[in-house]
Amino acid sequence: MFSKPHAKLGSDNDAALNDLQDIGQRSLIRMVFIASGVTLGVFCALQFLAGNYLFASLQLLGTTILLWGGWRIVRVRHLLPWIYLYLLPIFSFLLYIIVMPNASKTAFVWVYSIPVLSYLLLGSRRGSLLALPFVALACLLYFYTYPISFDAVGLIEVGNALFCGVMIIVFVHLYETRRASAHRKLQHMARTDSLTGVASRGSFQQSLEQSINEAQRCHAKLVLVILDVDHFKRVNDQYGHDAGDQALRHICNILSQRLRVSDTIGRLGGEEFGLLLPNTDEDGAAPLVKALREQLCSEPLQYGKEQIPLSATFGLAEWPIDGETAAQLYRCADQRMFRGKELGRNRMIGRDRKVG
Ligand code: GH3
Ligand code: MG
Ligand code: MG
Repeated sequence: MFSKPHAKLGSDNDAALNDLQDIGQRSLIRMVFIASGVTLGVFCALQFLAGNYLFASLQLLGTTILLWGGWRIVRVRHLLPWIYLYLLPIFSFLLYIIVMPNASKTAFVWVYSIPVLSYLLLGSRRGSLLALPFVALACLLYFYTYPISFDAVGLIEVGNALFCGVMIIVFVHLYETRRASAHRKLQHMARTDSLTGVASRGSFQQSLEQSINEAQRCHAKLVLVILDVDHFKRVNDQYGHDAGDQALRHICNILSQRLRVSDTIGRLGGEEFGLLLPNTDEDGAAPLVKALREQLCSEPLQYGKEQIPLSATFGLAEWPIDGETAAQLYRCADQRMFRGKELGRNRMIGRDRKVG
């Protein structure tokens, strides 16, 4: 039996993964803003007690801005400018406290936070581009302010400071590059259907929504096709599950050979696939879909010595005539595919029951 039309596409792993990363980054930045604001607030109080009122006032202003930023950051649209607006003044301030009058020699330890904050908030490429010049400048300022004494104690001091800094940079670099690579792998797994290699349901849904937005902007058209393999249960029952799996891969190979680079194929579930054909209308898509349907019939799966005949039923829906949202378009294509099943399968149904 064929399945009932779906109301809408389901969960979106890929988007969920991106959302998760975005939420994670925003809460991390919020934590960093608040921690820096509180730290600066403590130093502001100390400067106030020491009678450095001007410096204390500037620090109070900094504390207020950081705490406001921590509250605001979860709602801003673009994170990157906020991150640079935070890092550049903070890093410049860290350079200044090395050379400011009456500075403590140990103020240099704050320079170690430069690579950690840069990599954490900007990733390895942008992070290293920002951190390295600041760290190099901090070293120059430090050695200019406190010239190295070339005795054993002086060299040990310099060695401690340099090796500790290098260790921190190497560690954060390795950590961030591995984290980013693990995230890329997870993203690939979420985007791809593991059996057939075509887009996963969630990724297809995302492409459909993006294509509708683009079509809206450019006043273009697009066609969504839903196809369901006919009597696929019989393939499994007669030849086994492995043959069924190979049949699904075979079908995807045929579909992907014919489609343009800009088209998308997604596996929507079991033996149901979606084709997203941008910049075309139903009249333009129909000959391609007809050719695909005929090719599926004329190229049975060679399974050992057996030839397994395959066919599929196709439902077409054109944006915006058949539906303005992804859900409406999907429902329309699904209903037409469903109608094709009722009419006897192995056919293509478009508007006005146009059959191919
Ligand atoms: P119809 O023409 O009405 O679509 O009939 P059908 O047999 O294709 O539809 P039905 O929904 O009854 O059966 C679908 C079958 O697809 C049942 C399920 O075992 C099989 N199937 C779903 N996913 C996979 C898969 O990943 N691998 C294999 N081998 N079979 C699958
Ligand atoms: Mg089905
Ligand atoms: Mg089927």
